[in-house]
Amino acid sequence: MRVTALAGGIGGARFLRGVRAALPDADVTVIGNTGDDITLHGLRICPDLDTVMYTLGGGLSAERGWGREDETFVVAEELAAYGVGPSWFGLGDRDLATHLVRTQMLDAGYPLSDVVRALCERWRPGVRLLPMTDERVETHVVLDDDEGQRAVHFQEWWLRLRAAVPARAIVPLRAETAKPAPGVLDALAEADVILFPPSNPVVSIGTILAVPGIRDAVAAAPAPVVGVSPIIGGAAVRGMADACLTAIGVETSAEAVGRHYGGRSGDGGLLDGWLVDTVDAGAAVPGATVVARPLLMTDLDATAAIVRAALELAGV
Ligand code: GDP
Ligand code: CA
Repeated sequence: MRVTALAGGIGGARFLRGVRAALPDADVTVIGNTGDDITLHGLRICPDLDTVMYTLGGGLSAERGWGREDETFVVAEELAAYGVGPSWFGLGDRDLATHLVRTQMLDAGYPLSDVVRALCERWRPGVRLLPMTDERVETHVVLDDDEGQRAVHFQEWWLRLRAAVPARAIVPLRAETAKPAPGVLDALAEADVILFPPSNPVVSIGTILAVPGIRDAVAAAPAPVVGVSPIIGGAAVRGMADACLTAIGVETSAEAVGRHYGGRSGDGGLLDGWLVDTVDAGAAVPGATVVARPLLMTDLDATAAIVRAALELAGV
């Protein structure tokens, strides 16, 4: 079975652990979000790709939910002693090695997709991890508050401002001229099932879909497309997805997110099936089949059960 999933960071990575547990023999391709990428101290950092790679490779800090386990922060302390920021972005020493390898390879001229493949030779995530694009696409957030109208990098809004300053707009910069990375469109066209994990619908899945060609490839794929709601009972399970949804004028509810993706037999929609939590039973998405199941990824068994429910809904 060929499974293709779009994925952000934590929500995507946890779901993918469930995919591997539910389908140990499947051929899984992951199209990862790179809109969160940022350059700091001259280093190219790809938080969502690394979260997927570390989680599936067994190196993620379960406690923090990002970065490496067994991490130290000596370099970050030294930077702080120099008064060199930003202090709001966590850079662990072990994690820095990943960013050094990546930046060195990018500087040597390798495309990001080759870099990811090289990093995955160490981590062996058990899936084929592809960046959505090899080109630089960065999500910026337009703010309008006491400090006036300005745009900041998504990471600054998310980590420093905790998404507490309302976003006027969320823009994946340069997405409109980006091309899908090699293998992305084929993975969608050749899949037996396409899954949207419960990743952030705006700054994870939405950013991937903003790369020209990817949305159309999902819409045109022969495989069934099933999504899992990251919103349960009117709130994000983790993080500030509500602030992102508000910015694009979508209510924070499982039904509204399903309608935002749209039913596939409707007008230009993407989903054949939409999995919502049991507390959201009754949600309706025109053009898609909605099924309610417990959607908290509390442990691997619960997560694998969610994946099995998604596959059942897909009819594969
Ligand atoms: P990020 O890039 O690290 O923010 O991660 P993603 O975009 O992949 O996923 C973030 C989303 O995961 C958030 O909007 C959460 O609501 C969602 N999420 C986290 N844990 C769970 C869970 O146990 N169940 C469900 N349904 N969604 C979850
Ligand atoms: Ca992310």
